Amino acid sequence: DHGLSEADPEVSSIIKKEKERQFKSLELIASENFTSRAVMEAVGSCLTNKYSEGLPGKRYYGGNYYIDELEILCQKRALAAFHLDEKKWGINVQPLSGSPANFEVYTAILNPHDRIMGLDLPHGGHLSHGFMTPKRRVSGTSIYFESMPYRLDESTGLVDYDMLEKTATLFRPKLIIAGASAYPRDFDYPRMRKHITYRIDTFWKIADAVGAFLMMDMAHISGLVAASVVANPFEYCDIVTTTTHKSLRGPRGGMIFFKKDPVLGVDLESAINNAVFPGLQGGPHNHTIGGLAVCLKHAESPEFKAYQNQVVSNCRALANRLVELGYTVVSGGTDNHLVLVDLRPLGIDGARVEKILDMASITLNKNSVPGDKSALVPGGIRIGSPAMTTRGFKEKEFIAIADFIHEGVQITIDAKGLVSGSSKLQEFLKFVVSSDFLLTDKVS
Ligand code: PLP
Repeated sequence: DHGLSEADPEVSSIIKKEKERQFKSLELIASENFTSRAVMEAVGSCLTNKYSEGLPGKRYYGGNYYIDELEILCQKRALAAFHLDEKKWGINVQPLSGSPANFEVYTAILNPHDRIMGLDLPHGGHLSHGFMTPKRRVSGTSIYFESMPYRLDESTGLVDYDMLEKTATLFRPKLIIAGASAYPRDFDYPRMRKHITYRIDTFWKIADAVGAFLMMDMAHISGLVAASVVANPFEYCDIVTTTTHKSLRGPRGGMIFFKKDPVLGVDLESAINNAVFPGLQGGPHNHTIGGLAVCLKHAESPEFKAYQNQVVSNCRALANRLVELGYTVVSGGTDNHLVLVDLRPLGIDGARVEKILDMASITLNKNSVPGDKSALVPGGIRIGSPAMTTRGFKEKEFIAIADFIHEGVQITIDAKGLVSGSSKLQEFLKFVVSSDFLLTDKVS
C-alpha cells in the first residue's frame, strides 16, 4: 500500500499546488476557512470505509458499534456547542452539505408546491432558499416548491421586514427562511416570529391549518452563533440548518437542528430524520462526521470564542477602513464576518476587480448588490474575515488588506481607461478588465 505521492504523483502534485496557493494567497472568500490538522486527520481516516445507513442503534449494516459511538458523540457535541437542551432539541449530523440539508428540511415538512419565502439571491440569499429568475426556476427548491422571495430595503441595505410581513400575509407561505450568503447584518428573529403568529391568529383566523414554520440557515455564521457573538436563532426558530465548513471551521458537511416537541402538528424529529435517510441520502459520510465531532469539541473552547470575536473585530476594521477610503459598503458596515462593497459608484463591477485581485493572489468573490440591473454583471465584491483570522491576522492586517484591495480597484479603474500604445503589462490588464469572459451566468 503506497502513499499518495507514490501511488498517484499526478493528483499528489495538484494537491501540492493547491496547498501552496492556499498558503500564499490572501483568502477572503466569506464562506471559506482553514480547518485544523486534527479535523483533516479524521476526514482522511478509515472512517471513510464504512457503510452505516440509518441512525445509531438502528443501522441497515453490521459492524457499526464504533460508528454509532462516533455519531452519538458528534450529536452530543453539536447540541453542547450551540448550548441546546437535549430534551428540547434534536439533531441530524448526516447531511452531506448545506444545500442537501435545506432540501431535506423542505421535503420533511412541506408537500410538493407548498409555498416558501427566503431572501432573494441578488439581495444576499442562497440558491437553495428558492431562487428563480423571470425566465427560469433555477434551484431545485424553486422547481419543487413555490417560492416568493423577500428582499432588502435598497435605501438601507437591511431586510425589509414590513414588506416581508405584507407579502407573507397575502402569499401565506408554509415556511419562512432566515439566513443568507451575503448579508452583513443580523436577522431580526423576534420580528420574523411575530409576523408568523400575527398571520395565523389574527388575520386569517384559521389557526394551525395554514401555519408557517420558521427556519434559520445559519451556514455562514454558525461559528459566530456557537460563540454567542451574534443573535441566537434557536430562541425563535423551529429548525436551524448549517454547513460545517464556513465560520465553524470544520470539514465540509451539514447539520439540521430541530425542535423535539411537535410544531404545527408535525413531529419534526421523525420527519427530518426520514427525509435525510431514506428520503434523500444513503450512507452517511462517517469520515466527515468524525471531523465534525473534532471541530465541535474545539467549538466549546475559550480559544474558539476568542477566534470568533476576532473574526468580527477584524471585519469591522476592514469595513471602517474601506469607508474611510470612500467606498460604499452595503448597510453602512457589518455586524458579522463579511463586508459587501458596492463598486457601482466607481463605474466598475465586481467581476473585473475579482480578476485583477486574483492576479495579485487576493482571493475574494464578485457579488450582486441591492439594485443591480443584471445578475450577469454583479456590482460589488464580498469580503470575509474568517480564513485570514484563522491564519492569525488581527485588525492591523485587515486594515492593510483594505489598502491592498483599494490598490487593486485603482488598477482596475486605470486599466479600463487605458489608451493603446501603453506598456505590455498595461495592455494585458486592459485586456483582462475588458474581456467578456468575466461575464458568467453563475448565480451563486
Ligand atoms: N446556505 C447558505 C446560507 C450558504 O451560504 C451556502 C453556501 O454557500 C449553503 C447553504 C450551501 O452549502 P453547500 O455549498 O455546502 O451546499
